[in-house]
Amino acid sequence: MPFTLTQVQQLIRDTFGDKDSRRGVEGTFMWLIEEVGELAEALRGGRSLEQTSAEFADVLAWLATLANIAGVNLDEAMAAKYGSGCPTCGLIPCACGPTEKP
Ligand SMILES: [Zn+2]
Repeated sequence: MPFTLTQVQQLIRDTFGDKDSRRGVEGTFMWLIEEVGELAEALRGGRSLEQTSAEFADVLAWLATLANIAGVNLDEAMAAKYGSGCPTCGLIPCACGPTEKP
């Protein structure tokens, strides 16, 4: 079943919302970074695609949690920043040089 980012945020809010709001931004940010570290380990090798996929899901879930607490809608944020293409050159695909960070 495909999810929109708004649906991901609602699912995470329904499942963990009470605990998330008590933890706050700082504590949640630490969990997000811990999960990013676990994703890095998975990508470094030695994990199955299923295990690596689960780490991606964890990172997205914690990013959704953080966005919920911060009052950010990820669908709207993505549309605003990337909906018209590269934020730097405005093109799809990006035509920026390899040293430029969009
Ligand atoms: Zn660009």
